[in-house]
Amino acid sequence: MENLIQPGEAQLCLDRRQFLKMGSALTAGLGLSMVAGNLGNIRGRMWERLSKSGVLTSPAILPLGHDAPPVAGALALNLYNIHTGEYLKTTYWEDGKFIPEALDHLNHFLRDYRTNQVLPMDPQLMTLVHKVGQAVDARQPVHVISGYRSPKTNAMLAAEGHGVATKSMHILGRAMDIFVPGRSLRELHEAALKQHAGGVGYYPKSNFVHVDTGRVRHWNGV
Ligand SMILES: [Zn+2]
Repeated sequence: MENLIQPGEAQLCLDRRQFLKMGSALTAGLGLSMVAGNLGNIRGRMWERLSKSGVLTSPAILPLGHDAPPVAGALALNLYNIHTGEYLKTTYWEDGKFIPEALDHLNHFLRDYRTNQVLPMDPQLMTLVHKVGQAVDARQPVHVISGYRSPKTNAMLAAEGHGVATKSMHILGRAMDIFVPGRSLRELHEAALKQHAGGVGYYPKSNFVHVDTGRVRHWNGV
């Protein structure tokens, strides 16, 4: 697990960068108060970004929206990552709350496999994928083509013309590209649209449906 960014380490990384920034700023002869102000801005922006991305979402919130009724029982995911060959079957919600250990396993499972970086994913994304899987009565693991994408990987894919958005929800840990063996992509697409829970992209040639927890919208890709 070394070299992976674990939940809670984002601040640590930031502090390291701040320290370097402070060092170079001091060398450049800037005043200390100016440096402190700059650090405050960096921290504020980072916090805002994490909040917006849902990374700081409390694990006690209800899945999928404030008006969703409390979910009784347990919610589980059965996934297969086509790039790493890993399977993960886990109950991530039980007794009215998310299970942190299960979310940790999901975060690792959904890592950027190219850079091995892990980001705390939006827990509501798990419930969205769970619901879509249920809606198509998935009998096999939901296949994951893409979960978290680091900014570096996303920029590389965008530069190579893979049709990825430069401000992709994958960078924020709020999107998954999926398909379900034994179920048509059209069926999966319709099930995702019916959730009215975020963005849905239909990629028939690439054979996946993109789902994310951003605002409700949909589009067709290739
Ligand atoms: Zn996607």
